[in-house]
Amino acid sequence: MKKIYGIIGDPVAHSLSPVMHNAAFEKLGMDAVYHAFRVSSEEVGDAIRGAKSLGISGLNVTIPLKEKALFFVDAEPIAKKIGAINTIDFSSGTPIGYNTDGIGSLRVLKETVGEIKGKNVLILGAGGAAKAISFYLDAKGAKITIANRTKERAVHLTSKLSNADFSGLGVELGKRIEASDILINATSVGMHPNEDVSLVSADMMHPDLVVFDIVYNPMETKLLREAKRAGVKKIVDGVKMLVYQGAASFRIWTKEEPPIEVMENAVRDALIREKF
Ligand code: NAP
Repeated sequence: MKKIYGIIGDPVAHSLSPVMHNAAFEKLGMDAVYHAFRVSSEEVGDAIRGAKSLGISGLNVTIPLKEKALFFVDAEPIAKKIGAINTIDFSSGTPIGYNTDGIGSLRVLKETVGEIKGKNVLILGAGGAAKAISFYLDAKGAKITIANRTKERAVHLTSKLSNADFSGLGVELGKRIEASDILINATSVGMHPNEDVSLVSADMMHPDLVVFDIVYNPMETKLLREAKRAGVKKIVDGVKMLVYQGAASFRIWTKEEPPIEVMENAVRDALIREKF
C-alpha cells in the first residue's frame, strides 16, 4: 500500500518539503507520497494522534508547531534539550520525535570545515533554529557565541550550552566576528520579502571566515553578498541545510539512503520557479 508522509504547520502552503521528498520517492521508485497539511497550534495533538490512527508513516513539523508537538511524542534526548521537534516517525507504533535541523546544519559544517571541535562559532539568533544548531555544535566541542537582538534569549540559550558566551548585535559584534572561524545567520533577517538587510556587513568579515546563512529564500541573501564582497572563501546558503535536514528525516522514516542531489535540485528549481 502507498505510504503517506507529510508536513504539518501553519502556514505550510509554500513549504519546499513536498517537492523535495516527492522527488526522492520518484527517483527511488518508492510507492509513497508526501503532502502538506495545514494544522493550527490548537490542533497539533489531534493531528499527531490522527496521523497515527490513519497509518501515516512519518511527519515533518514546522512553524509554529515545533515546540508544542514535543508534548505528543516520545522525543529523542537532544530534541528534548532543544525543546522542539521537526520530525515524527510512526513506524514503531509510538510517535517518536526527532530534531533534524541540528543534524542538517552539522553536516553542512562538517563538509565545509571538517573538524568542528575547538572552532569559534558565532551564531546570530536564539530562536528555534539557533537552538537546534547550537546544541549539536556544542555536543561536537565548538566554542559558541550567541548574538541575539533580545539579550535575555541569548543569555538563556547560552546557559544551556557547555562552552558558550553571548553578545549583542551592536558594536561588540565586529570584535566577536574577528575572533570567529564560522559565522552562522540563524535569524530570519534577510529572508523574503525583506531581502536587502543583513546584520553583518563586508567590513566586519575576514576572508578566512566561513559564512553560512540558513535562510534559503532568497538563496543568495544580502549576508552572502556581503561575504563575497569581503573576499570570504567559504560561503554556504540555506538550501544545503534544508536538504540535509530533509535527508535525515527521510533516513529515519524509510531506512533508505536518500538521493541528495535530486532533492537539492528539486528545491533549487522550485525556489527559482516559484514566486513567494
Ligand atoms: P524563530 O524561532 O522565530 O527565531 C527568529 C530569530 O531571528 C530570533 O533570534 C529573533 O531575535 C531573530 N530576529 C528576527 N527578526 C530580527 C531582526 N529584525 N533583527 C535581529 N534579529 C531578528 O525562527 P527560526 O525557526 O529559528 O527560523 C529562523 C530562520 O531560519 C527563518 O528564516 C527560517 O526560514 C530559517 N530556517 C532555515 C532552515 C534550513 O533548513 N535552512 C531550518 C530552520 C529555519 P529575537 O529573539 O530578538 O526575536
